[in-house]
Amino acid sequence: MSRYNNQINRRYNQQYSVNKKPYFVVTCVALVIMIILLICAIAVTRSEYKKSQTLLVDSSSEVVIDDSSAENNSSAAGNTSNSSQSSSSKNDSATSSKPQSIEVIDGYSVYNFVGQSSDWRLKLSNRLNVINNYTPSTKYIGSQYCQNNDNYQIDERVYDDLIAMIEAAKEDGVKLISVSAYRSYSKQQSLYNNKVNYYLKQGYSQKGAENKASTIVAIPGTSDHNLGLAVDFNYLEQRYENKPELVWLKEHAEEYGFVMRYAKDKENYTGVIYEPWHYRYVGKDHAKKMNQLNMCLEEYVEYLQKNS
Ligand SMILES: [Zn+2]
Repeated sequence: MSRYNNQINRRYNQQYSVNKKPYFVVTCVALVIMIILLICAIAVTRSEYKKSQTLLVDSSSEVVIDDSSAENNSSAAGNTSNSSQSSSSKNDSATSSKPQSIEVIDGYSVYNFVGQSSDWRLKLSNRLNVINNYTPSTKYIGSQYCQNNDNYQIDERVYDDLIAMIEAAKEDGVKLISVSAYRSYSKQQSLYNNKVNYYLKQGYSQKGAENKASTIVAIPGTSDHNLGLAVDFNYLEQRYENKPELVWLKEHAEEYGFVMRYAKDKENYTGVIYEPWHYRYVGKDHAKKMNQLNMCLEEYVEYLQKNS
């Protein structure tokens, strides 16, 4: 009897173990797949987060990273100053210290240039060269060239070339419209502060709120717009890079002394996302040379220092 029982037990155990095996294998495979998926999801999220926290925009509304609801850009234009403002020429003759090596910030290598060219057209304003005491002498572009009949300003020394460019485009059947130009440092500061406060109220820490705000509003003093040497044209989204206006600019802007300031493959030098709408005045000779050399402003200023 006991032998019979043993046989039954053995058979039961064998059967049980045979039935249990497939469940065990399936559970293990499912667990491994879930772990792999989880690791992938974390990696993607981390990479996107890092990108959005590091690359900046240069204006109050040039939002192309993570926010499709761009603010009304007209609020970004400095409408308070006028063409009789005095030029702070002492800032133009800045010192020329030696460029430093590439610096890694938040995982991205950003060009660490700490000097300035003595040429006003090559003045650098970026996250490593914050300009906080500079008021250019500006001139109104004219509402016929601006969005929604607004009237933006530009450094008066740039005015003639800018208008010549817009008129030349018109002759080619392309209507260039300025959607932003000069913004004073104080205007930029108040836009930035508002955005920081907005995120503080949402429960972000001070640092977190500043990081978040800087992906939407440029940190004051780090934008070409604060210098009065930049104009944004027609579209403020990367997906419009093939629109006739932006294609025309890419081809002809250098003839009038303008370059695309934040090119697609230069984020590590400029620290700013690709902005096919943002054109910066550097003068005709420099613009042509920069395009020939395929250099952004940071690279070009260093190049000139090394070769002077
Ligand atoms: Zn811009």
